[in-house]
Amino acid sequence: PPRAARSRTKQMAKVGLREFTSLARVLADGRLLRYGKGSRGATAAFETAFAAQMGCAHVLTVNSGTSALIAALAAAGIGPGDEVLVPAYTWVSTAIAPLAVGAVPVLVDIDESLTIDPAAIEARITPWTRAIMPVHMLNLPCNMAAVMDIARRHGLVVVEDACQAIGVTYRGRPVGTIGDLGAMSFNHHKNMTAGEGGAVLTDDERLFVRAQ
Ligand SMILES: *Cc1c(COP(=O)(O)O)cnc(C)c1O
Repeated sequence: PPRAARSRTKQMAKVGLREFTSLARVLADGRLLRYGKGSRGATAAFETAFAAQMGCAHVLTVNSGTSALIAALAAAGIGPGDEVLVPAYTWVSTAIAPLAVGAVPVLVDIDESLTIDPAAIEARITPWTRAIMPVHMLNLPCNMAAVMDIARRHGLVVVEDACQAIGVTYRGRPVGTIGDLGAMSFNHHKNMTAGEGGAVLTDDERLFVRAQ
């Protein structure tokens, strides 16, 4: 991978005065629950702003990137008996998420890009395959054109794991907004952090409601 891409992921995001004052506003407001009392809190405001920045219709914030992956698979109706294709090189959450909904993760080789090898995907497709989870590792975007083409031809759902790549674009589009659903992580080691946190991204209102 490009040296810059590797070293970027090694740096932990710094938090400082801007985060302190943002958090102080929430504490001063006193409403720590996301729901209730009608008015919109900081979480809802973030979801609206993040959706606008990413250029997608719906954002659902959750407690982690792992939860975002699980919610995305559940939203797509993936469950027991289903197989989900995941790259052999990733963080464990990509394989744990299918297990969490009762599905079976099936490993697919990566190529020199360090992301899922499109040429290796079709050999792993069986009658039980329901979804592909391409992972944009180390800020390196997957070959999404090839992944989407294979998915459409085989009727598979695409859940992009963009947990390590917030802000990265592929052919001008933010990664995480190209597949049917995308997952982001706001863990301390990621590009943009809240300490812990995550988000599901989708343009499909039905999938959004099911993810909720
Ligand atoms: C960090 C990460 C996750 C999970 O994110 P958490 O917020 O730590 O749960 C999932 N997939 C990849 C590729 C990651 O790097």
